[in-house]
Amino acid sequence: MTTQTQAKTYKNYINGEWVSSIENKTVKSVNPADRNEIVGYVYLSGKEDLDQAVAAAKSAKTNWRKLSGAARGDFLYKAANVLESRLDEIAETMTREMGKTLPEAKGETARGIAILRYYAGEGMRKIGDVIPSSDNEALMFTTRTPLGVVGVISPWNFPVAIPIWKMAPALIYGNTIVIKPATETAVTAAKVIECFHEAGFPAGVVNFVTGSGSVIGQGLVEHPDVNGVTFTGSDYTGKRVGAAAFARGAKYQLEMGGKNPVIISKDADLDLAVEGTISGGLKSTGQKCTATSRVFVDNEVYETFREKLVSKVKEIKVGHGLESESWMGPCASESQLNTVLSYIEKGKAEGAELLFGGNKVTGNGLENGFYVEPTIFDNVNNNMAIAREEIFGPVLALIRVNSFEEAIELANDTEYGLSASIYTKDISNILAFINDIEAGLVRVNAETAGVELQAPFGGMKQSSSHSREQGQAAIEFFTSIKTVFVKG
Ligand code: NAP
Repeated sequence: MTTQTQAKTYKNYINGEWVSSIENKTVKSVNPADRNEIVGYVYLSGKEDLDQAVAAAKSAKTNWRKLSGAARGDFLYKAANVLESRLDEIAETMTREMGKTLPEAKGETARGIAILRYYAGEGMRKIGDVIPSSDNEALMFTTRTPLGVVGVISPWNFPVAIPIWKMAPALIYGNTIVIKPATETAVTAAKVIECFHEAGFPAGVVNFVTGSGSVIGQGLVEHPDVNGVTFTGSDYTGKRVGAAAFARGAKYQLEMGGKNPVIISKDADLDLAVEGTISGGLKSTGQKCTATSRVFVDNEVYETFREKLVSKVKEIKVGHGLESESWMGPCASESQLNTVLSYIEKGKAEGAELLFGGNKVTGNGLENGFYVEPTIFDNVNNNMAIAREEIFGPVLALIRVNSFEEAIELANDTEYGLSASIYTKDISNILAFINDIEAGLVRVNAETAGVELQAPFGGMKQSSSHSREQGQAAIEFFTSIKTVFVKG
């Protein structure tokens, strides 16, 4: 086990070099599976560190923009290869730093590699259209130009995939970047940046500054030389990021929380629905923005579904993410554990019936970690806090409905709109669900938490700033369109 004296301090990466923060203050990153293990230290950087990183990105942006897309793509391919060669080590660091099980961490790292390769290829795809001009002798077309310096602010729940799904498109479309990772998982993020360093990106193209959200995050959003900000995190922070970016005319993109519903219809394959509800709601300890949270079950199959669900949830093995038999790891931090426990208390106080779980997990050494049981509430009303607010933990709320129409109405009765799923064989209900559900990701006979890197990703309502990430949709945020009219 790593001890406090052995743990390394991970530096900032500015202008192609690993540098100490001018302020020289550090913060430790603790293993949520065992609070006694320190995974590493990162700097609590200050405004001057940030200014240096932004200045480096600004001075690198013209040369980077002038490279061909194919040349920029070569750097991304190299970064993918380095990350691939370090997959096991980086996945293990992720498990130690935020608790998700090793198979999930490996899957996420593999996704990061695939995203890098996908966007490397984007460097050779079209970036505009020819539009017939009303002047027969003119050529009119669109082309794309990068924003310039892009600020990347990422959360702790996907410490490899989310930074990469923002950085890769930013870079391929010709922007330089300054990333501020979530402090909770900044060691894992530093290792991702090491891969970019090893890939040989020109100095100043990729910059990495750790530090608090209120200093480095906010500083990035307010910095006059940062032309765009891409943010993923809570809606509380996101709204402030959006307002500050808007106030100074910077482009911004926000992906935020969810309160994702699954509808279990009376004709659903109940075994499949149980599997999807558990996987969608409890994997990663429920800490996915697309996690299933509200489970609307038709009255006709309510008791059968509930029985099957509880019997499967009982089999879940909670434990250290590095142990092969663990299916669910700890919450990512003590504060996250406390938030989950406080929502469980709120659910009980509001009159929901605690059907399973609800407690901290202790014994077998788990008392040193931030473990909570997978939890199911029965007889939940959609107006209760546990059905309205994002918990970001392994808590499922069962809500009884009497019809498909009632299920859709209640599923839409939320301020969020990220992901939604239905289990049914009825094609009319499937089509109605696709049309009527208010969510950016619509899933049929599949769990709410499934994202493919080549498809647009993002939410409706309060879940997003209505832009989309990933796939070819990413070009919309990371570039501006120029409409060109040429006459000889
Ligand atoms: P968070 O507290 O909002 O933090 C997100 C990032 O913002 C972190 O890097 C944080 O830095 C930084 N930050 C904090 N205060 C800031 C400020 N005033 N100005 C600028 N940046 C600031 O969110 P989180 O707890 O890390 O992540 C969980 C949330 O992310 C959940 O709501 C989840 O649904 C959402 N999420 C959404 C998606 C999606 O694609 N829709 C995907 C994953 C997660 P520090 O770490 O230093 O505080």
